Amino acid sequence: MRIDLHAHSTASDGTDTPAGLIAAAARAELDVVAITDHDTTSGWQEAAAALPAGLALVRGMEMSCLGHGEDGYPVAVHLLAYLFDPGHEAFAAERQRLQQARRERIRLMAQRMRDDGIPVDPDAIIAGAGNVVGRPHLARALLDLGVVETIGDAFLHHLSPRGPYFARMADTWLDDAVAMVRAAGGVPVLAHALARKRGRVLDLEHVRVLAESGQLAGLEVDHPDHEEKDAAILARLAARHGLITTGSSDYHGGNKTIALGARTTAADQLDELVARATGAGIIQR
Ligand code: AMP
Ligand code: ZN
Ligand code: FE
Ligand code: FE
Repeated sequence: MRIDLHAHSTASDGTDTPAGLIAAAARAELDVVAITDHDTTSGWQEAAAALPAGLALVRGMEMSCLGHGEDGYPVAVHLLAYLFDPGHEAFAAERQRLQQARRERIRLMAQRMRDDGIPVDPDAIIAGAGNVVGRPHLARALLDLGVVETIGDAFLHHLSPRGPYFARMADTWLDDAVAMVRAAGGVPVLAHALARKRGRVLDLEHVRVLAESGQLAGLEVDHPDHEEKDAAILARLAARHGLITTGSSDYHGGNKTIALGARTTAADQLDELVARATGAGIIQR
Protein backbone atom coordinates (compact mmCIF):
# COMPACT_ATOMS: atom_id res chain seq x y z
CA MET A 1 0.00 0.00 0.00
CA ARG A 2 1.30 3.44 -0.96
CA ILE A 3 -0.32 6.13 1.15
CA ASP A 4 0.50 9.86 1.02
CA LEU A 5 -1.50 11.89 3.53
CA HIS A 6 -0.45 15.49 2.85
CA ALA A 7 -0.84 17.22 -0.52
CA HIS A 8 -1.92 20.65 -1.76
CA SER A 9 -3.93 21.72 -4.80
CA THR A 10 -4.88 25.04 -6.39
CA ALA A 11 -7.56 25.28 -3.70
CA SER A 12 -4.65 26.68 -1.65
CA ASP A 13 -1.05 27.03 -2.78
CA GLY A 14 -0.39 23.94 -4.91
CA THR A 15 -0.22 24.11 -8.71
CA ASP A 16 -2.35 21.04 -9.59
CA THR A 17 -6.11 21.47 -9.65
CA PRO A 18 -7.88 19.08 -7.24
CA ALA A 19 -8.67 16.79 -10.21
CA GLY A 20 -5.08 17.18 -11.38
CA LEU A 21 -3.85 16.16 -7.94
CA ILE A 22 -5.92 12.98 -8.17
CA ALA A 23 -4.50 12.27 -11.63
CA ALA A 24 -0.98 12.83 -10.28
CA ALA A 25 -1.70 10.44 -7.39
CA ALA A 26 -2.82 7.77 -9.85
CA ARG A 27 0.34 8.31 -11.94
CA ALA A 28 2.43 8.02 -8.76
CA GLU A 29 0.72 4.65 -8.17
CA LEU A 30 -0.67 5.67 -4.82
CA ASP A 31 -3.43 3.59 -3.20
CA VAL A 32 -4.49 6.42 -0.92
CA VAL A 33 -4.00 10.18 -1.17
CA ALA A 34 -5.14 12.96 1.13
CA ILE A 35 -6.02 16.44 -0.10
CA THR A 36 -4.90 18.82 2.65
CA ASP A 37 -5.13 22.38 1.41
CA HIS A 38 -4.39 25.22 3.80
CA ASP A 39 -7.48 26.44 5.66
CA THR A 40 -10.06 25.28 3.13
CA THR A 41 -12.13 22.28 2.08
CA SER A 42 -12.98 23.84 -1.29
CA GLY A 43 -11.02 21.23 -3.25
CA TRP A 44 -12.77 18.21 -1.69
CA GLN A 45 -15.65 17.89 -4.11
CA GLU A 46 -13.63 18.15 -7.32
CA ALA A 47 -11.05 15.69 -5.96
CA ALA A 48 -13.73 13.18 -4.98
CA ALA A 49 -15.45 13.46 -8.37
CA ALA A 50 -12.16 12.75 -10.17
CA LEU A 51 -11.31 9.55 -8.25
CA PRO A 52 -10.49 6.57 -10.45
CA ALA A 53 -11.00 2.96 -9.35
CA GLY A 54 -8.20 1.75 -7.10
CA LEU A 55 -7.40 5.12 -5.53
CA ALA A 56 -8.92 6.16 -2.19
CA LEU A 57 -9.30 9.76 -1.01
CA VAL A 58 -8.86 11.06 2.53
CA ARG A 59 -10.40 14.49 2.83
CA GLY A 60 -8.34 16.76 5.03
CA MET A 61 -7.04 20.24 5.59
CA GLU A 62 -3.88 21.85 6.97
CA MET A 63 -4.76 24.50 9.47
CA SER A 64 -2.60 27.55 10.21
CA CYS A 65 -1.95 27.67 13.97
CA LEU A 66 0.24 29.18 16.63
CA GLY A 67 1.95 27.27 19.42
CA HIS A 68 4.64 27.76 22.07
CA GLY A 69 8.04 28.08 20.40
CA GLU A 70 11.23 26.59 21.84
CA ASP A 71 12.33 30.12 22.71
CA GLY A 72 9.14 30.84 24.64
CA TYR A 73 7.59 33.02 21.92
CA PRO A 74 4.62 31.97 19.79
CA VAL A 75 5.56 30.13 16.61
CA ALA A 76 3.57 29.26 13.46
CA VAL A 77 2.64 25.56 13.38
CA HIS A 78 0.45 23.53 11.07
CA LEU A 79 -2.24 21.10 12.14
CA LEU A 80 -3.49 18.45 9.74
CA ALA A 81 -7.19 17.81 10.22
CA TYR A 82 -8.55 14.63 8.65
CA LEU A 83 -12.07 13.40 7.95
CA PHE A 84 -13.96 16.10 9.84
CA ASP A 85 -17.51 17.25 9.12
CA PRO A 86 -17.16 20.31 6.84
CA GLY A 87 -20.58 21.51 7.97
CA HIS A 88 -19.58 21.90 11.63
CA GLU A 89 -20.40 25.57 12.17
CA ALA A 90 -17.73 26.82 14.57
CA PHE A 91 -15.00 25.13 12.59
CA ALA A 92 -16.36 26.45 9.27
CA ALA A 93 -16.44 29.97 10.74
CA GLU A 94 -12.82 29.64 11.85
CA ARG A 95 -11.82 28.64 8.29
CA GLN A 96 -13.53 31.76 6.96
CA ARG A 97 -11.69 33.87 9.50
CA LEU A 98 -8.34 32.34 8.52
CA GLN A 99 -9.01 32.90 4.81
CA GLN A 100 -9.76 36.58 5.44
CA ALA A 101 -6.67 36.94 7.66
CA ARG A 102 -4.57 35.43 4.84
CA ARG A 103 -5.83 38.02 2.34
CA GLU A 104 -5.11 40.90 4.72
CA ARG A 105 -1.67 39.57 5.47
CA ILE A 106 -0.66 39.13 1.81
CA ARG A 107 -1.96 42.64 1.10
CA LEU A 108 0.26 44.00 3.90
CA MET A 109 3.33 42.11 2.65
CA ALA A 110 2.69 43.27 -0.94
CA GLN A 111 2.33 46.85 0.25
CA ARG A 112 5.66 46.65 2.08
CA MET A 113 7.26 45.43 -1.16
CA ARG A 114 5.61 48.21 -3.17
CA ASP A 115 6.89 50.79 -0.64
CA ASP A 116 10.31 49.39 -1.44
CA GLY A 117 9.85 49.72 -5.21
CA ILE A 118 8.82 46.13 -6.03
CA PRO A 119 5.64 46.48 -8.13
CA VAL A 120 3.67 43.42 -6.99
CA ASP A 121 -0.09 43.78 -7.44
CA PRO A 122 -1.96 42.49 -4.36
CA ASP A 123 -5.36 42.57 -6.09
CA ALA A 124 -4.13 40.41 -8.97
CA ILE A 125 -2.42 37.98 -6.57
CA ILE A 126 -5.49 37.65 -4.36
CA ALA A 127 -7.88 37.36 -7.32
CA GLY A 128 -5.68 34.72 -8.92
CA ALA A 129 -5.41 32.65 -5.75
CA GLY A 130 -9.00 31.74 -5.03
CA ASN A 131 -10.16 31.35 -1.42
CA VAL A 132 -6.75 30.82 0.11
CA VAL A 133 -3.82 33.05 -0.66
CA GLY A 134 -0.37 32.32 0.70
CA ARG A 135 3.26 33.27 0.43
CA PRO A 136 3.78 30.88 -2.51
CA HIS A 137 1.41 33.07 -4.57
CA LEU A 138 3.52 36.08 -3.71
CA ALA A 139 6.62 34.03 -4.61
CA ARG A 140 5.14 33.33 -8.07
CA ALA A 141 4.44 37.03 -8.59
CA LEU A 142 8.07 37.85 -7.71
CA LEU A 143 9.23 35.14 -10.13
CA ASP A 144 7.00 36.53 -12.91
CA LEU A 145 8.37 40.04 -12.33
CA GLY A 146 11.92 38.68 -12.56
CA VAL A 147 12.66 39.86 -9.02
CA VAL A 148 13.81 36.34 -8.05
CA GLU A 149 15.02 33.40 -10.10
CA THR A 150 13.32 30.63 -8.12
CA ILE A 151 10.48 30.18 -5.63
CA GLY A 152 13.11 29.04 -3.12
CA ASP A 153 15.00 32.32 -3.51
CA ALA A 154 11.82 34.25 -2.82
CA PHE A 155 11.36 32.33 0.44
CA LEU A 156 15.00 32.83 1.38
CA HIS A 157 14.97 36.60 0.88
CA HIS A 158 11.64 38.36 0.33
CA LEU A 159 9.25 36.06 2.19
CA SER A 160 11.34 34.92 5.14
CA PRO A 161 10.02 35.68 8.64
CA ARG A 162 13.43 37.28 9.19
CA GLY A 163 13.08 39.41 6.04
CA PRO A 164 11.85 43.00 5.75
CA TYR A 165 8.45 42.28 4.18
CA PHE A 166 7.13 39.47 6.33
CA ALA A 167 3.83 39.90 8.15
CA ARG A 168 2.30 37.47 10.63
CA MET A 169 -1.26 36.32 10.30
CA ALA A 170 -3.79 35.83 13.07
CA ASP A 171 -3.57 32.04 13.27
CA THR A 172 -5.63 29.79 15.56
CA TRP A 173 -4.06 28.82 18.89
CA LEU A 174 -2.99 25.19 18.52
CA ASP A 175 -4.98 23.84 21.48
CA ASP A 176 -8.16 25.52 20.23
CA ALA A 177 -7.57 24.14 16.74
CA VAL A 178 -7.16 20.59 18.06
CA ALA A 179 -10.36 20.94 20.07
CA MET A 180 -12.25 22.29 17.03
CA VAL A 181 -11.11 19.44 14.80
CA ARG A 182 -12.24 16.95 17.44
CA ALA A 183 -15.57 18.71 17.88
CA ALA A 184 -16.11 18.40 14.12
CA GLY A 185 -15.45 14.65 14.32
CA GLY A 186 -12.02 14.93 12.74
CA VAL A 187 -8.60 13.51 13.53
CA PRO A 188 -5.94 16.13 14.42
CA VAL A 189 -2.36 15.29 13.41
CA LEU A 190 0.45 17.74 14.03
CA ALA A 191 2.23 18.54 10.73
CA HIS A 192 6.05 18.70 10.39
CA ALA A 193 6.45 19.77 14.05
CA LEU A 194 10.26 19.87 13.92
CA ALA A 195 10.82 21.35 10.44
CA ARG A 196 13.88 23.34 11.52
CA LYS A 197 14.74 24.13 7.89
CA ARG A 198 11.84 26.57 7.96
CA GLY A 199 13.01 28.40 11.06
CA ARG A 200 11.90 28.31 14.68
CA VAL A 201 9.94 25.25 15.78
CA LEU A 202 7.41 24.23 18.38
CA ASP A 203 8.49 23.41 21.94
CA LEU A 204 8.18 19.63 22.37
CA GLU A 205 6.67 20.28 25.78
CA HIS A 206 3.65 21.77 24.03
CA VAL A 207 3.30 18.58 21.98
CA ARG A 208 3.50 16.48 25.16
CA VAL A 209 0.79 18.52 26.86
CA LEU A 210 -1.53 18.02 23.87
CA ALA A 211 -0.69 14.32 23.68
CA GLU A 212 -1.31 13.82 27.40
CA SER A 213 -4.63 15.61 27.17
CA GLY A 214 -5.74 12.82 24.84
CA GLN A 215 -6.84 15.40 22.27
CA LEU A 216 -4.05 15.21 19.71
CA ALA A 217 -4.35 12.03 17.63
CA GLY A 218 -1.09 11.87 15.73
CA LEU A 219 2.25 13.24 14.58
CA GLU A 220 3.60 13.63 11.07
CA VAL A 221 6.98 11.95 11.49
CA ASP A 222 8.36 11.32 8.00
CA HIS A 223 8.37 14.70 6.23
CA PRO A 224 10.87 16.18 3.74
CA ASP A 225 11.66 19.09 6.09
CA HIS A 226 12.52 16.82 9.06
CA GLU A 227 16.10 15.82 9.84
CA GLU A 228 16.38 12.12 10.63
CA LYS A 229 17.17 12.73 14.29
CA ASP A 230 14.10 14.95 14.69
CA ALA A 231 11.89 12.36 13.01
CA ALA A 232 13.25 9.84 15.53
CA ILE A 233 12.40 12.18 18.43
CA LEU A 234 8.83 12.50 17.15
CA ALA A 235 8.51 8.74 16.59
CA ARG A 236 9.56 8.07 20.20
CA LEU A 237 7.15 10.68 21.52
CA ALA A 238 4.33 9.13 19.47
CA ALA A 239 5.14 5.64 20.76
CA ARG A 240 5.18 6.85 24.36
CA HIS A 241 1.76 8.51 24.05
CA GLY A 242 0.04 6.07 21.71
CA LEU A 243 -0.19 8.57 18.87
CA ILE A 244 -0.65 7.73 15.18
CA THR A 245 2.43 8.42 13.05
CA THR A 246 2.24 9.52 9.43
CA GLY A 247 4.65 10.07 6.56
CA SER A 248 3.84 12.44 3.71
CA SER A 249 5.35 14.38 0.84
CA ASP A 250 3.60 17.73 1.46
CA TYR A 251 3.35 17.92 -2.35
CA HIS A 252 2.68 21.39 -3.80
CA GLY A 253 3.01 20.61 -7.54
CA GLY A 254 5.45 23.00 -9.20
CA ASN A 255 5.64 25.25 -6.12
CA LYS A 256 7.98 22.74 -4.46
CA THR A 257 10.40 20.14 -5.74
CA ILE A 258 9.13 17.13 -3.75
CA ALA A 259 7.25 14.41 -5.68
CA LEU A 260 3.87 13.03 -4.65
CA GLY A 261 4.40 9.72 -2.82
CA ALA A 262 8.04 10.55 -1.99
CA ARG A 263 7.13 9.92 1.69
CA THR A 264 4.41 7.52 2.77
CA THR A 265 2.30 6.35 5.71
CA ALA A 266 2.00 2.74 6.95
CA ALA A 267 -1.36 1.03 6.30
CA ASP A 268 -1.99 0.24 9.99
CA GLN A 269 -1.56 3.92 10.88
CA LEU A 270 -4.12 4.91 8.24
CA ASP A 271 -6.53 2.28 9.59
CA GLU A 272 -6.15 3.78 13.06
CA LEU A 273 -6.75 7.27 11.68
CA VAL A 274 -9.91 6.26 9.82
CA ALA A 275 -11.17 4.38 12.89
CA ARG A 276 -10.94 7.54 15.02
CA ALA A 277 -12.87 9.75 12.58
CA THR A 278 -16.59 10.38 13.01
CA GLY A 279 -16.99 13.45 10.78
CA ALA A 280 -16.40 11.95 7.32
CA GLY A 281 -15.28 8.71 5.73
CA ILE A 282 -12.55 7.72 3.33
CA ILE A 283 -13.89 7.72 -0.26
CA GLN A 284 -13.33 4.82 -2.58
CA ARG A 285 -14.96 3.96 -5.92
P1 AMP B 1 1.95 30.79 4.23
O1 AMP B 1 0.98 29.73 4.66
O2 AMP B 1 1.32 31.82 3.39
O3 AMP B 1 2.78 31.36 5.34
O4 AMP B 1 2.98 30.06 3.25
C1 AMP B 1 3.61 28.91 3.69
C2 AMP B 1 3.70 27.95 2.55
O5 AMP B 1 4.90 28.19 1.86
C3 AMP B 1 3.73 26.50 3.01
O6 AMP B 1 2.83 25.74 2.25
C4 AMP B 1 5.10 26.03 2.70
O7 AMP B 1 5.08 24.71 2.26
C5 AMP B 1 5.57 26.97 1.60
N1 AMP B 1 7.00 27.17 1.71
C6 AMP B 1 7.69 27.49 2.82
N2 AMP B 1 9.01 27.57 2.53
C7 AMP B 1 9.15 27.30 1.21
C8 AMP B 1 10.25 27.21 0.31
N3 AMP B 1 11.51 27.44 0.71
N4 AMP B 1 10.01 26.88 -0.97
C9 AMP B 1 8.75 26.65 -1.39
N5 AMP B 1 7.68 26.71 -0.60
C10 AMP B 1 7.87 27.03 0.69
ZN1 ZN C 1 1.45 25.28 1.27
FE1 FE D 1 2.67 22.91 6.46
FE1 FE E 1 1.47 21.45 3.65
